[in-house]
Amino acid sequence: MSLPFLPFAKPTIDEPTIAAVGEVLRSGWITSGPKVQAFEKALSDYLGGRIVRTFNSGTCTMEIALRIAGVGPGDEVITTPISWVATANVILETGATPVFADIDPITRNIDLDKLEAAITPRTKAVIPVYLSGLPVDMDRLYAIAAKHKLRVVEDAAQALGSTWNGKRIGAFGDFVSFSLQANKNITSSEGGFLVLNNAEEARLAEKYRLQGVTRSGFDGLEVDVLGGKFNMTDVAAAIGLGQFAHIDAITAHRKELARHYFACFGSDFESRYGAQLPVADFENSNWHMFQLVLPERITRAAFMEKMMEKQIGIGYHYPAIHLLKLYRERGFGEGMFPVAERVGQRIVSLPMFNTMSKDDVVRSVETVKSVLG
Ligand SMILES: *Cc1c(COP(=O)(O)O)cnc(C)c1O
Repeated sequence: MSLPFLPFAKPTIDEPTIAAVGEVLRSGWITSGPKVQAFEKALSDYLGGRIVRTFNSGTCTMEIALRIAGVGPGDEVITTPISWVATANVILETGATPVFADIDPITRNIDLDKLEAAITPRTKAVIPVYLSGLPVDMDRLYAIAAKHKLRVVEDAAQALGSTWNGKRIGAFGDFVSFSLQANKNITSSEGGFLVLNNAEEARLAEKYRLQGVTRSGFDGLEVDVLGGKFNMTDVAAAIGLGQFAHIDAITAHRKELARHYFACFGSDFESRYGAQLPVADFENSNWHMFQLVLPERITRAAFMEKMMEKQIGIGYHYPAIHLLKLYRERGFGEGMFPVAERVGQRIVSLPMFNTMSKDDVVRSVETVKSVLG
């Protein structure tokens, strides 16, 4: 008898949330309205009262942050090659030039020494990514930004519930962008939100979110910037609110699962199997993913196929962005960021989701060991 398929990620929507969505659908107001406002308020409260605006994706959230920061043609923005391609695409969308800095082989996040070395007089902003929810050294990041007068757009898409020295990611810093896409720790089906610094930025965010429009009085309407169509619906906000109610329990459960992963792999796993475990951080990371870097002796495709045969889903987050065709056409290529290139070919994401059990972890680890053994 074979066990059921264990996916690498899976959203779970509880019954009260499904009921809340039903209420929105019956209410006569299904686009942006009271649920969006309530969600923005709840997120702001969680992040120490900082201003929050919601959008319909984490991608447009970052693009809007770059626009508010005044990033455009002629500017350079530094980011990591190991992220979802959205992180670099939004730089291209503004007309600015993406500049990559290689990653740290241990954290798999952008190497801050290399980030600092990549700064030029044209650098306007940096986009650090907290892969799998593990932040970079936030003190160092903001020291570099202050020294070189750079804006920071944190791609915290995976880091809701993560912390730095006891402070929540998003509760401090410059622009902080989160995603609520279906596979994130909490979801609104699709969506994102941005933490901003002041009312002026929030007004601009609202304009970019909806066609550049400012309304006043009964029939006043003005457009003075080019905005798009990026608003979150009340249907999505109702899902987000229902999910957000469990954020602390979700983060705690994922930390438990991660601890169990380490216990099951055992202290000799890396030396015996040649694979690399993630950083064992149970303080700051929200454990959005549990990622291994595979040894040289097996290809990722072969590993994924063998795991799949044994009913274990495996993800890969992410191939190096600079080797994708769109970026090769802009002058990037092999050998430029060797650590990212190696990790981008060998990194895999093991099952990790909110309703996963410790028995699932045991099964996942035993299967990894049998495939690598
Ligand atoms: C999910 C994700 C994004 C994009 O978010 P969407 O909501 O899918 O647009 C960007 N960067 C990282 C690191 C992500 O994980």
